[in-house]
This record gives sequence, C-alpha cells and structure tokens, in this order.
Amino acid sequence: MQRLQAFKYELMPTSGQQRDMRRFAGSCRFVFNKALALQKARYEHGEKKLGYAGLCKLLTDWRNSVETAWLSDAPVHPLQQALKDLERAYANFFAKRADFPRFKKKGQGDSFRYPDPKQIKLDQANSRLFLPKLGWIRYRNSRDVLGAVKNVTVSQSCGKWFVSIQTEREVDRPLPRGTAVGIDMGINRFATLSDGTFYAPLNSFKRHEAALRRAQQAMSRKIKFSNNWKKAKARVQRIHSRIGNARRDYLHKATTTISQNHAMVCIEDLQVRNMSKSAAGTVDAPGKSVRAKSGLNKSILDQGWFEFRRQLEYKLAWNGGMLIAVPPHNTSRTCPCCGHVSKDNRKTQVQFKCVACGHEENADVVGAINVLARGHRVLACGEDVSRAKPAKAQRAASVKQEPAEVSQAQA
Ligand SMILES: [Zn+2]
Repeated sequence: MQRLQAFKYELMPTSGQQRDMRRFAGSCRFVFNKALALQKARYEHGEKKLGYAGLCKLLTDWRNSVETAWLSDAPVHPLQQALKDLERAYANFFAKRADFPRFKKKGQGDSFRYPDPKQIKLDQANSRLFLPKLGWIRYRNSRDVLGAVKNVTVSQSCGKWFVSIQTEREVDRPLPRGTAVGIDMGINRFATLSDGTFYAPLNSFKRHEAALRRAQQAMSRKIKFSNNWKKAKARVQRIHSRIGNARRDYLHKATTTISQNHAMVCIEDLQVRNMSKSAAGTVDAPGKSVRAKSGLNKSILDQGWFEFRRQLEYKLAWNGGMLIAVPPHNTSRTCPCCGHVSKDNRKTQVQFKCVACGHEENADVVGAINVLARGHRVLACGEDVSRAKPAKAQRAASVKQEPAEVSQAQA
C-alpha cells in the first residue's frame, strides 16, 4: 500500500535565506489576501467566484504590473499554492467544515509550499536541501527521509524556520494485531477504554493559562511596536507554541499506543465542530448556560478530540487496524448488563448504577463498553466500514494522511 508521510526538520538558513523566506512567505500572504478581497468584492457585486485558473491568470498580471512587480521575485509555484489554499478554504466553508476564510496576518502561520518534486533536490548525506530561488539550505538531520519526495513546505514558528518534506512510498500491508476496544471521550478523563484503562485530561492549556494571561497583560501595557512590546509579544508566542507542543506530544503518544495494541477501535461519532461551536447563540436565540458550555468548549478544543480521532484513524490504517465510528446516542445511559436505557442510570458524572438490574461501574467505562458493543453490531450488520465512515467534520482531514513522526526540533 502507498504510505504518505511527512518528515519535519529545523532549517539552518543563512541570514540572506532567512530574509528571502520572510519575503516569500509575505508574498504568499499578500496573494492570498488580495485574492480573498477580490472574491469578497465579486460576491458583493453579485458576480460568480473566480476559479483557480482565473486566479492564476490574475496572478500573472500582478507579477507583471508595476505596483506589485516585487511579487515576481518570489518563486511562482508557492504563490499559486496560496491560491490553491484559498480554494480549499472556500470549499471547506461551503461544505460546512470550516468558518469563512479569513485574511492572513503577518506572523500567524507564515509558510509556503513547493509542490513540484522536480524542482526540489534532497541531499541527505550532506544534510541539505535545494529549493527554487533559495538555493541549498542546511537542515538539522535528525532522521532519514523515507520514500520519494512529493512536496515541501517551509514554515516559521517563534523565529525558527522548519521544513516539512512530504513523501510517498510503497509498504507492505501490515497484518492487524491486538484486540477490539471501545473508547469513551470525556471531560474528566480524556479517553476511557472499554478494558478499563484511561487517559487523564490533558489540560495543558489550563496549566499554561495563567502564564499566558500574565504575558498577554504585560504585552498590552507596552507601547505598541516598541522594543519591549516586541519582547513581550515573543514571550506570548513562545507560551502558545509550548502549549501546542505539549498537546501534540500527548496525543501522539496516546494514539500510537492505542493503534499498536488494538486491531479494531470503536469511537463515538461525535461532531466535535457542533459541540465546540460558540455557546453564546445569537441575539434572537441566546445560548443557554453559556458559561458552563464555553468552559466545556474550551476543554474540548483544549484536548483536541478531533485531532485524536484523526491520528487514530491514520495510525490504525498504518498498522492494519481500523476505526469504526458508531452513533453516540445513549451510550452513557444504557446498561451493558441488561440493556436498560434510562437517564437515571447515571445519577452522577462518574458513577453508573442501573435502575433495573443494579449493575454498578464507572460511567466512562460503561460508555466505552457500549461503544464497543455498537461497533460489533455495525460490523455484523455488514455496513460498509472498511475504512470507518468519517464524520462530516472529519472527511476533509481523513483524506490526507498525517505528516506525523516529526523530528523533535521544535522548542
Ligand atoms: Zn442493568
């Protein structure tokens, strides 16, 4: 089977290359924002959205025009990729997978992508990479790149530059190993398995929350764009990046362990996007218990259920296993012993006690057992679950296998 994988390394650019990369990222951002502004204006005038080909034609005009001639200093393929990104952002919006595309700001996800392998040269023996208009760049060679290079993305985070090399290679289809397991996702416990093991809540955001708030307050007291303001801003960004790294690390460890030990994993088909949607509601229909829900929202986002499921899905596929999504109704209210369904079965958040047969168990474990039972039923009914029907919110991401296994270069 074909395996897509990304390998990420920290770059060691010269100061000239750093300057060029900043400019290229800026040019891509400019093109993205200009095209987005144009599409918005067309929409307001009742005109149809321009397609990718139309935008590319405009890009050529921009590169040739006097006011934006500096765009022609940047490599053309990454600029076109910025237009592709905008196309995808629109598609995700129309498919209700994402919010309306937003303008990009400097310093937020600065990156650009080279899509053509023919223009990229990878010299692993000398730990260097050739990219159009940048030349040879050295990188921290922490592990070998496996497979044929498909594309390369250069990105910046906290003042460091990284390269993500996406590859493709043929691997043997692995034989599934291990048992079947159900997973209940929760707030008190991040994930509970039907065999009783559980993963504690991540809460990395909560732990860093105070530090982040202090840093943000300190920044707001500084005069904007002064040297002290820039220092404070760098501190805020460092904390953000630390939170992200801790969360990624935790999720990767959990999903790797689960996918290596289980051939079949059943999970509730939760629409994370609906659950974490703003609880505030609208003026006409204000939301109920906004505070509690926004706390819940934060926890959900914080713990990255969506990311957890996405990682599980591709890692199981890598290991020959499969993910089965089951309908989530009443999994926490059904007795695994006698099948009695009642909300009285779950008097508290933690404890499950069946009002019919008296069966007692941890409520999250009950949920996980029910999820597993449902997964078996889905299989027995012969529904098409060969590749675990992804939830709507999931569909886009599931197509792409993950750039996992990154080097530990990120500080
Ligand atoms: Zn019962």
